[in-house]
Amino acid sequence: MQLEGKTAIVTGASSGIGAATVRKLREAGARVVGGARRVERIDADLALPLDVTDEESCAAFVVRAAAELGGIDILFNNAGLALGRYPFWESTPEDEETVLRTNVEGAMRMTRLTLPHIRDGGHILFMGSVAGRQAYENAASYVAAKFAVRGFVYALREDLLGRPIHVTTVDAGLVETEFSLVRFKGDVEKAKAVYRGVDPLTADDVADCILFAVTRPPYMNVDEIVVKALQQSSGGRIVRREE
Ligand code: NAP
Repeated sequence: MQLEGKTAIVTGASSGIGAATVRKLREAGARVVGGARRVERIDADLALPLDVTDEESCAAFVVRAAAELGGIDILFNNAGLALGRYPFWESTPEDEETVLRTNVEGAMRMTRLTLPHIRDGGHILFMGSVAGRQAYENAASYVAAKFAVRGFVYALREDLLGRPIHVTTVDAGLVETEFSLVRFKGDVEKAKAVYRGVDPLTADDVADCILFAVTRPPYMNVDEIVVKALQQSSGGRIVRREE
């Protein structure tokens, strides 16, 4: 119970990496408030509706979570998505806006609103991606968004320097969640094909990275963790088995 007495907020807690992280944080003894739009799917100490693209929704979520938890030790900015796999000339303003507003503005907004409630010794974590480190084809909005998240985290670390707050990003490659189902707008076949002939990471693998970062000694900051499937070198380069 390494996190006994600690409190946490997890965004995007209704699925995948967020849901797995809520589970592992609670197993380690933390009290956790989870947020997402599909609030009925969240299994946490308290589940609250949250749309990270909406300032009012985020403000109400943070106020309620902070009151409920009596102070916040951990914020995991996990909510995010990609939309489509097409060359940029096929992009739409709607897809670009949703991807940037969710991944980038959502994480910045939640950080700004939560910071005043973060206790000394606290921790802000971000779900980045290998897409934020190395571009791959037919994913321009998502690549731009995750590069922006990494830029924001670097800048935030500069601003917080000297304050007792840890900042970590986990940049993952292929993780089998509902991510591809969302990306392909419900097309199950296209979503399945992403994980065919390769052993992707699981949501639990990524949640373990979060747990590692938040259970280090107080004097240590884990800046970045980069994890990929062994058969993958970047978002676009994956060696698949014949099946
Ligand atoms: P997932 O299973 O689709 O989960 C995404 C979560 O984000 C859901 O809980 C969803 O909840 C939430 N979300 C989306 N838009 C939101 C909004 N506007 N407000 C609040 N919550 C919102 O996918 P996942 O793989 O766990 O993705 C989690 C994070 O990991 C994302 O940031 C993603 O970019 C990143 N990532 C994923 C992979 C991968 O291969 N899976 C790799 C690297 C990084 P609601 O729809 O209920 O709101």
